[in-house]
Amino acid sequence: MQEVIAPPLPKGEVEDEFNPLLSAEARFDEAAARLNLDEGMQKVLRSPAREVILHIPIQLDDGRLEVFTGYRVQHSIARGPGKGGIRYAPDVTLDEVRALASWMTWKCAVCNVPFGGAKGGVICDPNLLSPSELERITRRYTAELFDFIGPEKDVPAPDMNTTEQTMAWIMDTYSMHARHTQTAVVTGKPIDLGGSRGRTEATGRGCMIVTEQALRRFGLERSSARVVIQGFGNVGGMSAKLMARAGFKIISVIEADGAVYNPRGLDIPALMKHSRETGSVTGFSEAEDMDRDEAFFLETEILLPAAKENVITSHNAHRLRTKILCEGANGPTTHFADPVLAEKGIFVIPDILANAGGVTVSYFEWVQDRQGYFWNEQTVNDRLEEIMVNSFRDVVAYAEKHGVHNRTAAYMLALDRVAFAIKLRGIYA
Ligand code: NAD
Repeated sequence: MQEVIAPPLPKGEVEDEFNPLLSAEARFDEAAARLNLDEGMQKVLRSPAREVILHIPIQLDDGRLEVFTGYRVQHSIARGPGKGGIRYAPDVTLDEVRALASWMTWKCAVCNVPFGGAKGGVICDPNLLSPSELERITRRYTAELFDFIGPEKDVPAPDMNTTEQTMAWIMDTYSMHARHTQTAVVTGKPIDLGGSRGRTEATGRGCMIVTEQALRRFGLERSSARVVIQGFGNVGGMSAKLMARAGFKIISVIEADGAVYNPRGLDIPALMKHSRETGSVTGFSEAEDMDRDEAFFLETEILLPAAKENVITSHNAHRLRTKILCEGANGPTTHFADPVLAEKGIFVIPDILANAGGVTVSYFEWVQDRQGYFWNEQTVNDRLEEIMVNSFRDVVAYAEKHGVHNRTAAYMLALDRVAFAIKLRGIYA
């Protein structure tokens, strides 16, 4: 294998390490420099195409009026309509939404689906709001965005604290304004309203597919591949379920309140049942409880962080003992930790590739809605596999060709594809 150039040590203060916008910019700068992207194009790719800020008046259940602030950032529509989730959380900021929107542009370009990147959010605390208050926020947010979203413009999806039900409300509100039912305006809908089969498992399935591709490069069999998974929610839980079924040995599952460990491999369906019944993975009779920090640094072939951002940092990256890091979560590794991973020779499957199974099946949902013809689950899974395998090969080939690590390669590939689309289209006016 060709010698690779390690990413440079990042500039900036340590306090910057956890800022998602700075992290996104650091990776962008690195890829743009290696591509020798001209300054003008860098300016274009760096700036969001459009940012909408809304102040939404909502009548609360007790009769009071409250005003909520919401955002929709469309980072790029060069390769197709914007695509990206909407999150509801008290700490949503415009900077965070901007970073997440640009990540969506790069993710869609890496897996070569014909979308740009967008993201939205409303500053609110869903734990303090009733379902009907959340419905009113969602409907007013959608109505205010009517001119900016749509199947040809920008297609939202669920994200933190938004669900299938939220998507159903958006679809309905948009359709009422459009005067006809328009299912393709959002993805992540319930199957009965134009959702896609296989969407719930898609991100976990994608993680499994790319991990398998990485294993082959190490000449390892699934049965001898030990896996540690952090997070047992949608991405972590589905990855665990599908990987265990395929013969991987999941030796530890880490949750917010603790971890479980069995060196012979955990019985994942039984652990899921235990977790459903008790509300925790700990106390599982067929495994021993373990400190969650200790479990994260177990010696393993595959580490799959699938919980939250910023869990691998400049403070702990040196303790990792894995061959392959499959980033199921968005942004689990800070840019300060990248050089440490490079130095340790860890094979990183970066988030914009590893968790792209979700947006890929969202693309399938949009296609099926527009066709009005729905595929069976096998068709969805087969097409997902084809896209994930091709994307993995594209990134690894790019890394080898340019002598860089996988994350830099994924960003370079994405920037290259988006810049090429912009050049082909030309700059209007
Ligand atoms: P989720 O809420 O279903 O699951 C997250 C799980 O992580 C929860 O069970 C939570 O208890 C656990 N957790 C929280 N803090 C933890 C900690 N410190 N240690 C261990 N576990 C902890 O969320 P999800 O949909 O599975 O998303 C997880 C990550 O994957 C997020 O970064 C998300 O942005 C990303 N992602 C999700 C999708 C998708 O399709 N759901 C797609 C792409 C990326």
